[in-house]
Amino acid sequence: MNASQKILLIYTGGTIGMMEDPDTGSLVPFNFAQLRLNVPELRRFDCLIDVVSFDEPIDSSNVNIDSWQRMADMVESNYDQYDGFVILHGTDTMAYSASALSFMLQNIAKPVIFTGSQLPIGQIRTDGKENLITSIEIAAATENNEPIIQEVCVFFQSKLFRGNRTHKYSTENFDAFESANLAPLAEAGIHINYRRDLLLRPNGLLTVRKAFDNHVAVLKIFPGLSPIVIEGILNLPDLRAIVMETFGSGNGPTESWFIDALSAAIKRGVTILNVTQCNKGSVDQGLYETSEAFESMGIISGRDMTTEAALVKLMYLLGLNYNAADMRRILLESISGELTTNP
Ligand code: ASP
Repeated sequence: MNASQKILLIYTGGTIGMMEDPDTGSLVPFNFAQLRLNVPELRRFDCLIDVVSFDEPIDSSNVNIDSWQRMADMVESNYDQYDGFVILHGTDTMAYSASALSFMLQNIAKPVIFTGSQLPIGQIRTDGKENLITSIEIAAATENNEPIIQEVCVFFQSKLFRGNRTHKYSTENFDAFESANLAPLAEAGIHINYRRDLLLRPNGLLTVRKAFDNHVAVLKIFPGLSPIVIEGILNLPDLRAIVMETFGSGNGPTESWFIDALSAAIKRGVTILNVTQCNKGSVDQGLYETSEAFESMGIISGRDMTTEAALVKLMYLLGLNYNAADMRRILLESISGELTTNP
């Protein structure tokens, strides 16, 4: 680590900084001054660490568009002064926030590392200290005078993942996250070993876009799905797009009421993005007869995107006010490494 590196720690809340409310016994976020007390190691780093915090730290279940905009503001307004950023965040919605920041911060040339913990940092068996300390080390790591990581990532229990590829899969394990369709970008053992062949590099100057449109919904299909549910979702007022979570490689019922309802929604201008309910693998519309109609009516394949990344990408593109044709084109492209274009 280079002693002149400056890292900005952005504290938003989450278990890492929570303590028990003496009245209710529930975990509630506390302020960062107390978190700093619990991690005296922060003073021993060979780089300069400054801290900014949400005025009121939140449980990440309360994260919304405004929270993403505040995180992006904190990175943008400090971009030139710092070499890397570590965002402390609850695990529950970390995959959504990491996806959001990965789209908002186009052409980022510095590391933005999300981390958190399963146990509060004040507890003796906490996983928070290790996550925090290694995240700082990664955010400060350089090679040939440039940051090794130049994208938005999640670091959790020894693995660094591309943020928009992550999914919280465990409420119990210390390795709470997986990135089923992209190998970890780095693994931390005695050394931190980076997969340099996977790392993103910017194509131009940083551009920060903070608008989102939340006229979206997630439709998870299941055997026994009834027309009333489909009609209810597809006829929501002002609905602009849905993520449809389908079976296997992108399949769903072929019953005419279902196909007709989807097709009518597309004709009304609703964008439908197809992702799989499976943890690993990709949508391949047309592979089976049960996805042929999806392809022909104009449902867009989300390929191997996670539901989290797919939903946030829709909100981001709608916020940029693209027309349907541009939406389709950009949804099929990788804009921040969120999907595999040549599986
Ligand atoms: N409910 C917490 C949150 O997401 C859980 C965690 O931090 O792990 O803020």
